[in-house]
Amino acid sequence: MIESKLPHVGTTIFTAIGKLAKAHNAVNLSQGFPNFNADPKLLGLVQDAISEGYNQYAPMQGVYALREVISEKIEKLYGHYYHPESEITITASATQGIFTAISAFITPNDEVIVFKPAYDCYEPAIELCGGVAVAIQLLGKDFRIDWESFKSAINEKTKAVIINTPHNPTGTILSKQDMLRLQAILKDTDIILISDEVYEHLVFDGNTHESAAKFKDLASRSILCASFGKTFHVTGWKMGYCAAPKELMVEFRKVHQYVVFCANHPMQQGIAHYLKNPDHYLSLGRFYQQKRDYFLNALEGSRFKISPCSGTYFQILDYSAITHESDLSFAQRLIKEHKIASIPISVFNLNNQDNKQLRFCFAKTEETLDRAATILCGIR
Ligand code: GLN
Repeated sequence: MIESKLPHVGTTIFTAIGKLAKAHNAVNLSQGFPNFNADPKLLGLVQDAISEGYNQYAPMQGVYALREVISEKIEKLYGHYYHPESEITITASATQGIFTAISAFITPNDEVIVFKPAYDCYEPAIELCGGVAVAIQLLGKDFRIDWESFKSAINEKTKAVIINTPHNPTGTILSKQDMLRLQAILKDTDIILISDEVYEHLVFDGNTHESAAKFKDLASRSILCASFGKTFHVTGWKMGYCAAPKELMVEFRKVHQYVVFCANHPMQQGIAHYLKNPDHYLSLGRFYQQKRDYFLNALEGSRFKISPCSGTYFQILDYSAITHESDLSFAQRLIKEHKIASIPISVFNLNNQDNKQLRFCFAKTEETLDRAATILCGIR
């Protein structure tokens, strides 16, 4: 008998729902990925890098030119300088960055605080290290953090906290007040902050992204995890990076070098050139806000209750006026009977709490969003 290290884990909801969506030829708004291509300029730059022969290992920490341009970007946007040599590492996806960060710091019985609903890769990584995920449920329709509960969850075993802003799956963002509160609570502790900021550029309605890098004391204890997949419409490239103060990055790299050694070389070369021009990522918020609004306008008159998301490319729809069935069974029925796929939120919640909410990805062409909205408006 093989003893599972993750006895409670099955196949991810994204894979399970994606498979069902495919089998039923459903409009797929489940797993988060754009159904349009990246900028041809970026694709050309990667093709050039392949032709020019950047096809062997990249440096373990990442291509220096890319780390330099990332350092400039973070400093310009968030006012914190990370040294490209010692404080930035290119990863084979943000998921790898998060896994590596957890592996580098969590030892058996360490507690790691996570907020639920939580993206699904945090807890298994903690568990594999022998750590204990301490889950705190976000509250209310706006999924706010109860900072008092957070404060009381902290004890001498607390090794790290994972935050995610903009937040997957809820589409909420942390405010400056939230970040200041977090900073005040963590002050005078040795707690590490793992800050999942993969949707940093997808923030709407005039709000700004409150990176942990903006807050001096938080920055000093944080590992920032970022994604090129979300920013450049290339989720299949699995490219990301982490930024952290030198003392943390030294430990991070000890693990990184034995997990992947280095990330994909030609893509790093291509992105290093492409990233010099900030126009694309600076216009991303506008681009996705327009998609959100297009989708939500098309849903007018539907029976779903909508509270517009503030960030990410996910919109939660509340179906409590339609049926009492569980979100998992409703999501499955929507695929089989109505040919539309979404992600049930309960799988990310504490004790799988079912609030009758589904997550829809609107990183899609208007044609796909129209098809989806027509189906959803017909569900009475
Ligand atoms: N980040 C994607 C989402 O939230 C999922 C990626 C994956 O399938 N692991 O939809």
